[in-house]
Amino acid sequence: MESSKRSWAEPFKIKMVELLKMTTPQQRASAIKEAGYNTFLLKSEDVYIDLLTDSGTSAMSDRQWAGLMLGDEAYAGSRNFYTLEKAAKKYYGYKYLIPTHQGRGAENILSQVMIKKGDIIPGNMYFTTTRLHQELAGGTFVDVIVDEAHDPENLDPFKGNIDLEKLQAVIRKHGAQKIPYVCVAVTVNMAGGQPVSMQNMKALRALTNKHGIRIILDMTRIAENAYFIQQHEKGYSRKSIAAIVKDICSYTDGATFSAKKDALVNIGGFLAINDNDIYEEASNLVVVYEGLHTYGGLAGRDMEAMAIGIEESVHDEHIRARIGQVLYLGEQLQKAGIPIVLPVGGHGIFIDAKKFLPHVPQDKFPAQALAAELSAGRNARTGDHYYPKLELVRLTIPRRVYTQAHMDVIAESVARVYKRRKQVKGLEMIFEPKYLRFFQAKFRKL
Ligand SMILES: *Cc1c(COP(=O)(O)O)cnc(C)c1O
Repeated sequence: MESSKRSWAEPFKIKMVELLKMTTPQQRASAIKEAGYNTFLLKSEDVYIDLLTDSGTSAMSDRQWAGLMLGDEAYAGSRNFYTLEKAAKKYYGYKYLIPTHQGRGAENILSQVMIKKGDIIPGNMYFTTTRLHQELAGGTFVDVIVDEAHDPENLDPFKGNIDLEKLQAVIRKHGAQKIPYVCVAVTVNMAGGQPVSMQNMKALRALTNKHGIRIILDMTRIAENAYFIQQHEKGYSRKSIAAIVKDICSYTDGATFSAKKDALVNIGGFLAINDNDIYEEASNLVVVYEGLHTYGGLAGRDMEAMAIGIEESVHDEHIRARIGQVLYLGEQLQKAGIPIVLPVGGHGIFIDAKKFLPHVPQDKFPAQALAAELSAGRNARTGDHYYPKLELVRLTIPRRVYTQAHMDVIAESVARVYKRRKQVKGLEMIFEPKYLRFFQAKFRKL
């Protein structure tokens, strides 16, 4: 925590700006009403500070934009593929790389190649698309994250860890031959961006080696995870983010990656793997779903920008400022007494809506109501509920996009709603779609 006392500043200056539409409270109130009090149905244009997601919303550097001009749009063997392959090998160390259009493309290929019907895939909480692809391939996901992950007040610095006893129990119950791999996410989004410790990675490697089980990393936010290891784990304070990132990968057999988060691009992903047989099969299958194994649904220019983004993502000063901004917002909200998930994670702040609006019962959608209030009051946008037991509003911070002044405006607007929280009455659902209802549901104010 000491490190957060010293001021940090962005390790970049701004060369080009994107103008935002400034709106009045009346305009915002009518926009959110029209959207059925669902932030997913707002028009982007009506949103001043957009905190819906950190996925594909980062700002590329001048080097990345220049990289777009170096696109080699040959169908086969594009030069940019080899640049990307080289960057991934240098920073992550995996032997084989298959580009995909985004993270879920890699999840699909990996699941089809590695999972047989009836298999069990243990993991540290699930990500929606990861789990769905495991299930579509005939597998069953089992959550083996530590119990601390479910407690928003527990201050353990590594609440993303795998509970090795839970994992052992799963192995005993189903047998190692039913478990093709353990899926480890760094960091864990659904727990509030909580990291996994290196010690946990090592212990997990020892245990899985004993049983001949592979480890596949969901390495979407690996640089952010590395920062928490550097700051909070003994023996890592002098190691670079790049070295820690490569260390994490070294305890695993392969990875799926959404480049839309840490790697600072708007689209892209990959599957990386050390095993030759899995690679052969995956590089054959990718042709069916994504494209030839040297472009995987991406333009050459996208691969070039991704390669540069991977390198920039592991710069110590970048990640310090990135997470520094998230921690800063967390501190401002805590000062205002706002109940948030602690410790603050890597990519955003998760507000505990049940504690924020204790008078609103769960069937009146406190998280949805709070998200709608924030949108109308001062334009924050949010995700939906992530815990079955908890009602959380996620304020996700895009990388290199907003300034500290924006963070102040966010904190002020949340504090303002907190002051008049008793007037927030909750919502009633008036339209419920069949699937993933929170994306398209409509509500009425009570
Ligand atoms: C975004 C994400 C994915 C899926 O990646 P897409 O690029 O959105 O397909 C998988 N796992 C985690 C943890 C993610 O955040």
